[in-house]
Amino acid sequence: MSAAFTNRRLKYTDAVTSSALPLDQLDFSNRFTTELPADPDGRAVPRQVERAAFSRVTPAPTAAPSLVAHAAEVAELLGIDEATVTSDDFAQVFSGNRLPDGSDSFSMVYGGHQFGNWAGQLGDGRATAIGEIRTPDGGYQTLQLKGAGLTPYSRGADGLAVLRSSVREFLCSEAMFHLGVPTTRALSLVLTGDKVVRDMFYDGNPKPELGAIVCRVAPSFTRFGNFQLPASRGDLDLLRQLVDFTIRADFPELVPDDEPTVLSDATIVAWYAEVVRRTAVMIVEWMRVGFVHGVMNTDNMSILGLTIDYGPYGWLDNFDPDWTPNTTDAGQRRYRFGHQPPIAHWNLAQLGSALTSLVEDHEPLQKALNAYVETHETGFAEMMAAKLGLGALTEGDNDLIAGVLHILTLAETDMTIFYRRLADLPANADTPEDRLAPLLDAYYLPEQLTDEVKAEIDQWLAAYQARLAQAGRPDADRKAAMDAVNPKFVLRNYLAQLVIDGIEGGAPSDAGATDTETIDIYELLDVLRMPYDEHPEHEAWAGKRPDWARERAGCSQLSCSS
Ligand code: AMP
Ligand code: MG
Repeated sequence: MSAAFTNRRLKYTDAVTSSALPLDQLDFSNRFTTELPADPDGRAVPRQVERAAFSRVTPAPTAAPSLVAHAAEVAELLGIDEATVTSDDFAQVFSGNRLPDGSDSFSMVYGGHQFGNWAGQLGDGRATAIGEIRTPDGGYQTLQLKGAGLTPYSRGADGLAVLRSSVREFLCSEAMFHLGVPTTRALSLVLTGDKVVRDMFYDGNPKPELGAIVCRVAPSFTRFGNFQLPASRGDLDLLRQLVDFTIRADFPELVPDDEPTVLSDATIVAWYAEVVRRTAVMIVEWMRVGFVHGVMNTDNMSILGLTIDYGPYGWLDNFDPDWTPNTTDAGQRRYRFGHQPPIAHWNLAQLGSALTSLVEDHEPLQKALNAYVETHETGFAEMMAAKLGLGALTEGDNDLIAGVLHILTLAETDMTIFYRRLADLPANADTPEDRLAPLLDAYYLPEQLTDEVKAEIDQWLAAYQARLAQAGRPDADRKAAMDAVNPKFVLRNYLAQLVIDGIEGGAPSDAGATDTETIDIYELLDVLRMPYDEHPEHEAWAGKRPDWARERAGCSQLSCSS
């Protein structure tokens, strides 16, 4: 493209009139940067930033941006048409090379508890929002570039992102959305044309990788840690401004018409209760689909109850409540699959503590926090009843739910396949063999299905059948209901890796898979867009994780830098 792009501060409008460029028509509202205090220091130099909610940051220039993929529904949501998506300007803007008219780019300052310990100031070290826009549907969305260069919060790191982590973030955001899990979205995945050096295994062998940027999209990227940081510093003015702004901007339905300018304690408590509720709902959804976030630090908890910050996440292949994909957490396994519900509760308690300095009577905050347990338990039981096709919960269903979670651990069992195939169990199957038959594909190691294990599984299947008989729902109805909550396709860790292999240039470098076995990103995205449908032409992607992926880096294990 033209020389105008070589200087990141030079607007493309210097060369071409702005009306010629569709992205200059985005309707920037920029409420966060207009209404909250800015860091007066404009340098992207690592430092403590106090009495400010954000720093203005210009994205770093990129050498030769090119679009790898985009999510059509997200473009549509933002009012960006397909011709614009394929234009060179799109890659320039969503790599940070050109800021569109009206943008006000910034990085947020926040703190957080990391792995249970207060870590002080963190902030957007590699994320810069280009601004908030009004969308054609009347809503607001913030467009944030992840991997756009140094910010005041980069803390000795480079502010950049590599292709493998960007592919994983892009695909997983969209997969989660289409599964019905609350999440931030991804508009685009762009290669920057720059190389980024990473020591992927932390073993002293850094190597250059392809630089990439994902444009993430959400109504707000505010995290629990945005509130925790000013609270920890005793900066109650900033804390109050952030709380007021967030409630008015993102939870306007909670503000009574006659509310005074300064929000009342009751409104703040109602808001906290809503954050508790949304977080509990999000966690139930993670448990439904077998998603493990991997780094549930309080700086990675969205105030909107959205899944945010896709790093060393993973999907359960075989059901194992103790599994974590994050090698950085291999020791204590704090963020293992089965521990996500209590961790969310703990994180909410930290947010609640931050709010105690604003609210006079702490009792209602405590009550709102306590409601997490009930909301989660009820939500979890209802979700499990739906997975099992039970309809409304009845007495004894808790035992049935505990029972299925137990039999899933008796032998290495693919969680996704198991639930999907359970829908095929005929209500009238009357021998143990007939009952087990539809599920056989879910087992990784047939030799683990000893007579004893089979007997235990059958005991549960027989009880399940009896419960189904009591409900008296026709098999076909039950299957349709179960297929609507038990996805056939999830973003198995190895599938994302085969997409990465394909973009990086072909053959997997370090193990097992055949040279030709790579996956096209749009082909996979198309299936993940309709994860409850059958897609018989892609049956293999619904199958068990292949053996070569069992221990391969990227497929089973990732580090925080992933
Ligand atoms: P995460 O575990 O990805 O949520 O990151 C934790 C903190 O480290 C956040 O403040 C990030 O912005 C920061 N961070 C992670 N990777 C980088 C990077 N490559 N450059 C700068 N900051 C980073
Ligand atoms: Mg983070």
